[in-house]
Order: sequence, then structure tokens, then C-alpha cells
Amino acid sequence: MKPNAMWIASPVDLGAGTYRFKKSFTLAEGKTVKKASLTVSAMGIYSPSLNGKRVTKNVLMPGFTGYNNRVQYETYDVTALLAGENRIDIGLGQGWAVGYVGYVNTNHRFADHPSLIAELIVRYTDGSADRIPTDTTWEVTDSVVRSSEIYHGETVDLTAEEKPLGRAIPSVVKTTLVKCEGVPIREQERLAAISLIVTPKGERVIDFGQNLTGYVEVKIRLPRGSRIVMHHAEVLDSAGNFYTENLRHARNENVYICSGEEDTFKPTYSFQGFRYIRLTEFPDTPVDLSCFTAIAVHSEMKRTGAYVCGNEKINQLYHNIVWGQKGNYLDIPTDCPQRDERLGWTGDAQVFCRTAAINYDVEAFFRKWLRDVMLEQEPSGAVRGIVPDAMPSTRPTRISAAWGDVACVAPYEMYLAYGSKSLLRRHFPMMKRWVEYLHSAGPAEYLWLGGYHYGDWLAMDAGADSYVGATANDLIASAFFAHSLNLTIRAGKILGEDVSYFEDMRQKVVAAFREYFMENGMPKEEFPYTEINNGKSPVDTTRRGMTQTALVLILHFGLCTEEERRPLADRLAQLIRDNGNRMTTGFVGTPYLLHALSDNGYTDLAYTLLFQEQNPSWLYSVTHGATTMWEHWNSLKEDGSFWSTAMNSFNHYAYGAVYDWIFGVSSGIKPIEDAPAYKEITLAPHPDKALGFADASIESRNGKIRSYWYYKDDKVYYEFEIPEGVTAHLTLPSGRRETLRGGSYRFTE
Ligand code: BGC
Repeated sequence: MKPNAMWIASPVDLGAGTYRFKKSFTLAEGKTVKKASLTVSAMGIYSPSLNGKRVTKNVLMPGFTGYNNRVQYETYDVTALLAGENRIDIGLGQGWAVGYVGYVNTNHRFADHPSLIAELIVRYTDGSADRIPTDTTWEVTDSVVRSSEIYHGETVDLTAEEKPLGRAIPSVVKTTLVKCEGVPIREQERLAAISLIVTPKGERVIDFGQNLTGYVEVKIRLPRGSRIVMHHAEVLDSAGNFYTENLRHARNENVYICSGEEDTFKPTYSFQGFRYIRLTEFPDTPVDLSCFTAIAVHSEMKRTGAYVCGNEKINQLYHNIVWGQKGNYLDIPTDCPQRDERLGWTGDAQVFCRTAAINYDVEAFFRKWLRDVMLEQEPSGAVRGIVPDAMPSTRPTRISAAWGDVACVAPYEMYLAYGSKSLLRRHFPMMKRWVEYLHSAGPAEYLWLGGYHYGDWLAMDAGADSYVGATANDLIASAFFAHSLNLTIRAGKILGEDVSYFEDMRQKVVAAFREYFMENGMPKEEFPYTEINNGKSPVDTTRRGMTQTALVLILHFGLCTEEERRPLADRLAQLIRDNGNRMTTGFVGTPYLLHALSDNGYTDLAYTLLFQEQNPSWLYSVTHGATTMWEHWNSLKEDGSFWSTAMNSFNHYAYGAVYDWIFGVSSGIKPIEDAPAYKEITLAPHPDKALGFADASIESRNGKIRSYWYYKDDKVYYEFEIPEGVTAHLTLPSGRRETLRGGSYRFTE
């Protein structure tokens, strides 16, 4: 139940300082408590305790929503924490709602101060109840957490006396309170420090061996007043020094002041993305590594996928993909966890969501975030670059192809993975409105021309240092128009809707696409160029049609005839070979690249790309020591320098989308739309000697499915596990076909 209480705030504004809201109460005498529950929400981040004990393992609550539309509340069972005399104590920090958020270094995006709302209800066995709602009788103090910002980190002073600030005051909060519909954010894993490095600059740096999102817990006894100042970084530079320039405005600085007793420090209202910490200030005593533990924090999702193969580099790639997801599924799907972004970039989310749903059960995670996408869809049907929209109104993100298309891609992918028609039905209007937006955007009815896009973001074919690749935005946008229409039609059919209007539109879009962008079954080299850039300077200067990405989109989105497939695939293969068996694709082309090859007779070349180690390639970062996915193919360049300081994350999951090919094609497990949630699958493994063996599984909603193949004496041995009630349509490379139902199977070819 929603808290029936008053929104309250501190009478004194402490800026980045944090507060504690306190209320004492006594239980009714002579009565027995049946159940006590505490319901809490905040504009900010709350941290509740009762009688000195933390009420929940959840952290960073109430999470990140479009706060002006809605904020989540949660109810916690606190029966076991009650005593005769009781004291509720709820910490409150700024969090995403009030502190700095967005990449233009601004705060107060959703509110100019933190506010709290809570209600404790104690129910007695005789049917009576006590209610303790937040109101102006609550006492407010400052806190030992002297300041906290998501991007900048936290200062905790255990020598500080908490000062009373007076009684809480009413706060005007305009939003809707909703029950938490996502999954809680929790501490998930603890990692020991692996080494202490003294860098060439003489700085003491601790390495945790893994790039991760969360924070470092410090358990230590030092003389009272000792200061520990820690900075966080993902990488060391080529000289071996601590490198923070890629964090941009984000300070990522935790400052701890010791009490003189055994202290435990970790942030409550902040988190960092890091592999290394620098002890920027630390007493002049030896560093005991056992005092430092890294804690990975992310949304609580059930792990469903597992993969191991005979190639250690691919195993490391898989590890990096999974850690990319851990690091970026912290309540919303983010781009990266370290610099002044950590935002719900819709393009990144769209690209990765299929892989995400293989690795983990992410249905509830997306159920929550997709509602924000829906709520933030503009009256025109437009969906912008980030959700929740954390940018100031003066700096809106773009309405871009492949970003806004998340409106169609993610609901459809969630349906395919989990089979929930209700989720699809909820989002079907959003899908229709997005394609209607495309229908009316720009000067042509059946093409999306002009606009202000992110393009084939970070592709390599417009020069190694360009943010945007060479493929024409008009082509990408119009191809995605057809793709989103396709998904909308499929969703409509699943829901039993009349989709003839959209089918007609799709036909016209495909025809217009072919007319405008293609000639003799190939993309044109050049075509009219539409520059409607909302008054902004062009982001890309080269706009071409004959690129790897263009060919991939035409093949994968079905913009060609069956007869055109082979020549298009041949051309794609030729472009790849001409580039030394390497891709040039960015965010838009890469997710479909290997599919476009293997669906059209080039599985061998897809494997060649997968095993490629020269930049650009998936294994380039692996051979350069990556433990998560990088933003750029070559975030760290061959010569040891960095791609840039402005845009260079070492934990950016987008290119990790390749796992959906490894799982779906190499191991061969793919759900079928007519019987989603892996109730019925195609099972078409494509073994490869360089992998040696591959053992992939998914704990689907219909049970565990496993595909395992290995080479022995020049033969391939297959082992499959199919749960009861699941049907697998097997096709082996020889062409042999079988229908498998619940059981374990072995084949040799
Ligand atoms: C983010 C990307 C995002 C992009 C838009 C970047 O700053 O980190 O991953 O999709 O902006 O092009």
C-alpha cells in the first residue's frame, strides 16, 4: 500500500550533505505484535534502519525512474526488529533525483532538495494497529555522511558529531508514488584485492583484478582523525600510472575519516565504476590489502546463462560480456558506470537486450524501465536518447534511429525470451506510436530522411577518430523504420490485432527504401543527402551507402529480395576481406553483422571475425587485458595511448551483443516466436574447430536447455538436454533433421 503520510524535508538545506530523519515510538502496552511493516520512498536515496539495524539489504533505493512522473516505494517487513521502545532512523541523500546527473554537469534535474515519505504500520493480534507516518514531528539531523553525489563520491567522517537540524518540514513533491515493480539493487559479489602497486609516480594503487560497478568496503583501525582519500579508475596508462581523465566531470572520490575504533566504510548514496583505487591520502603505514574489498552492486537478477568453450580468449570475452551486464544493469540499463553519464541510453539498451535476456532473467528489470520509456514517449511518438530523461530541457538528447527504436525492439525481445503477452500488450501502443512518429518525421512519408541521429556510432569507416561511421543516417533511419514496423506487425499478430495498416505501411517503406537507397540489388554509393539537423552542425560529414553496416541492415532487416541475398552477402564478405578480415561497423551494424553473414552462407567468415584479434575486433580488447567490454574497439590503442579522454569507457556493454550470435548460432539455441520463452526452439549448432568445444545453456522459463558439442578424432559429438514440455527442431550441419522432446540426446557426425 502507498504510504499514507506527508512528504517531508530537512528544515536546513545541506546541499550535497546527507540527513537522518528520526522518530521514536512505543508499542501499545499489553498487546502482541502480529506484523510490522515500513513503507518508504524518497526523492533522493533512502537508507532505513529500525533500532539501529538496517531494514533491508536493498541499496540505492528507490532506484532511478523519471522522478517527475513516478517514484517507487517499497514495503519492508520489520516485525523482527521491533522492541518496546523503538526508533526509526532513515538516512537520506541526494541520489539521481537531486544530485549531479547527465553529462552537462548539472544538478537538481528532478528536485532541488531531497524529500522523504514513509509509514510504519504495527498490526497487533487483536486487530488494532499503530501508524507512524512521516510528518513534522520527525526530528532531522545531519549525518556522518558529510556529502554524497552519485558521480563525485562520498565523504564519511566518523569523528563528526551529528547535529540536530530541527523538525522536518512539509515538502511539495509532485509525482506519483508507485509500488516498486523492478528488482532490488543489492550487493552481489565481494572481490578481494589482488595486488598493491606503487606506480612510477609513486602513488599507492590497489588492483581488484576486475573492472566492476559498486564500491570498495574498507575495514580498518587507524588513529582517530586519520584520513583515507580514495580515487577510482578503470585502467592504468601506458606508463603504469593511475588514469582518471576518461571519467570527465565525475570525481569518483571517497573520503573516509576514521574514528579510532575498528571502522567499516563504504558509500551509502553513491557508487563507482573501477578496477583500481588510488590511496590518494593514506596514513604513512603499510597497506594491508585484506582491509579492502570490492563489492559488485547491481540489480538482483537470476543468472540463467552459462557458456564455456575450448578457446580461452572467447571464454574471457564471455566473462567480459557478463561483467558488462553486471556493471550496467544497476536499476536501469546504462551505457557505462564510471563517468558523468551512467544513463539509460536507449540505443545501448536496444542493442544488448537479447544477450541480456540469455545471461540473466531480466523481465522484471525491463518491465520497470520500459514503463519509463513509455511514460517519456513524447506526444509525437518520439523516444529520445536516454530514459529516464536526466538532461536539462535546454540540452535534450536526440531522437535517433536505433536509439528510439528501443520502443519496438525491447518489448518484442522480452516477449520472445519470456512469453508474457501482458507486457507486450502494455507496450503495443508505444510501438505503434513510435512507427507513426517515423511515418510523419521528415519530408518523405515512407522514409525517415533528415533528423538528428547518433548514426552508426563509433564505427570505424569514417576515420578511426570519428564518433560517427560513414553509413548515411538517412539509410540507417529508413532501414530501422522498416525493422520497427516489422516488430510492430509481429507484436500485433501475437496479440490478435488487425495489423493490415502497418503491413501496408511496411510494404511502402521497403519499396521506398529500395527505390531511394538501392540500385540493381545493391546499396547505391551515393544518393540525395538530407541535412535537417535541428539547427545543429552536422555530426557526420561522410554519408555513404556502400558500407558494411548498410549491407548488414539490408540483409538482416529483409530489405532485399531472396535473389539479391547472395550478391549482397558476397559484397559484405568482400568489404570485410578487403579490410583485412575486419569489420568497420559501429553500434548500429555490429549487433547484426555475424547474423547477416551466417544467415547467408558465410558462417566461416563470421567465425573469422569472431577470432580476429587485430583492431577492430572483439578479441582486440581481450588480448589487451580487458575484463569488461570497451566502448571503442580500440579504447586503448596499439601504441598504448587512449582513444580520447572525452568518450572512452572501459565498461560499455553494447559490443557484448555478440553473445546472442555465439549462443544462437554457434551453439544454435534460438527461441521461436510462435512458442516463445523457449517452449519451442530451433537447435542448429555450427561447430568450429578453433573453438574446440562449446557448452552453452540457458535456464529458461520452460527449464534448462543445453547444447554441447566437441571435436574428437575429426568427428563432432553433440549432446543436448531438452526439458520436459519443450520441443527442439534440430538441424545438424550435415542437414540431418530431428525433432527432440524432453530428454538427453547424443549425436555424432
Ligand atoms: C554514450 C553512448 C550513447 C551515446 C549516444 C554516449 O555518450 O555513452 O553509449 O549511446 O552517447 O550516441
